[in-house]
Amino acid sequence: MTNNLKIPVVWDPACLRHEPAGEVWLGVRDAGTELPERAVVIRDALAAAGAPIVSAVAHDDSVLRAVHGPELLDHLATIWTAWEKAGYPSEYGRDRVVPYVFPTEGMLGGLPVREPNAPHGRTGRYCYDTMTLIGPGSWAAIRAAVDVALTAADLVAEGAPVAYGLCRPPGHHATRDAFGGSCYLNNAAIAAEALRAAGAERVAIVDIDAHHGNGTQAIFYDRADVWYGSVHVDPGAGWFPHYAGFADERGGGPGRGANRNLPLAPGTGDEGWLAAIDALCEEVRAEALVLSLGLDAAVADPESPLRVTADGYGQACRRIAALAPTVVIQEGGYELTSLGDLTVAALRGAEEAL
Ligand code: ZN
Repeated sequence: MTNNLKIPVVWDPACLRHEPAGEVWLGVRDAGTELPERAVVIRDALAAAGAPIVSAVAHDDSVLRAVHGPELLDHLATIWTAWEKAGYPSEYGRDRVVPYVFPTEGMLGGLPVREPNAPHGRTGRYCYDTMTLIGPGSWAAIRAAVDVALTAADLVAEGAPVAYGLCRPPGHHATRDAFGGSCYLNNAAIAAEALRAAGAERVAIVDIDAHHGNGTQAIFYDRADVWYGSVHVDPGAGWFPHYAGFADERGGGPGRGANRNLPLAPGTGDEGWLAAIDALCEEVRAEALVLSLGLDAAVADPESPLRVTADGYGQACRRIAALAPTVVIQEGGYELTSLGDLTVAALRGAEEAL
């Protein structure tokens, strides 16, 4: 008989309303892997393990607006309605918002970035890839995931040693002003900002998703009060996000030294992965911590070549949660038959630290 999990699981059913209905990868629309079922599988496994399920509490936008720019928030909140009203689904068979033109520095050569009137012209204004689609329920889910993160952060600020936010869609690829990588708003960064606002002088974010959290890194890159450390598959070996996540990215200005990337070779398993996590843990000096829990480093996951076991996840979470009161934020993890067991193993590990 195994003991019931005690870590509170913060949940909002609105997180299921985001149905991206695929992703356009290399010019072809695939079914995609960031499915609503992910959250159902995780919630059901944690409930079966006895964890208390806590409803997310609605929060105002104050912390959200400290992390993200107002234009990105307005875009995410309104683009689907504008898209539908302009007839893209009904007249042109475009059932999701897919970016089309990206105003890169190379395109503009110093010109100001304008705000196109046509909704299809705006699609690439705040998005940096073609994999992160928007549908009718997306905004409700994106905003609900923020409330999940903020509610989990409240629990830790009020004294819980660990709280888990079942955020979906995930967040760690979202920057201050742009979304991508199946992420829209940065739930982990929002949790970190909330912990700062609640009085933690220094917050650490440890990101163990298989992919580098380029969004979280960018949001805090110049700040000394929020340290960011990540273990992930080497972006230089051909893995998303390709343009960030390298070891020489150490932070800028006052944040110099407060950013740590440990890229790993494809095929790395528990031993190498845990050694890298131990190296990150040695650098953490914080009163509160956010763990970006991506379960896509697991051996069965289709989205990465890392080979971590459920036991490895348990050990990682035990070591990380021992460092400081911890808000665990769900990031990636896509293999639906093992995802629930992986999450339970991760939280059981965190509980061993208490
Ligand atoms: Zn990932």
